[in-house]
Amino acid sequence: MAYIIEKDICEGIADCVDVCPVDCIKLGKGLNAKKTAFYYIEDDICISCGVCLDACPVQGAVIPD
Ligand code: SF4
Repeated sequence: MAYIIEKDICEGIADCVDVCPVDCIKLGKGLNAKKTAFYYIEDDICISCGVCLDACPVQGAVIPD
């Protein structure tokens, strides 16, 4: 299992990026439906620790896959 970032819910606040222990949250290209930057998780590197979910202030932006 990995975690995923819902592209059209993420608001690009990026609190998750700094807390990820394996640096697998990356800036996506372009803008999402909210016209903000968004991030994605490299699922082959993610260790499913859940720290990003705890750090995210936007309900539903980070979910277990
Ligand atoms: Fe990084 Fe852990 Fe979130 Fe995976 S679950 S993206 S390793 S903080």
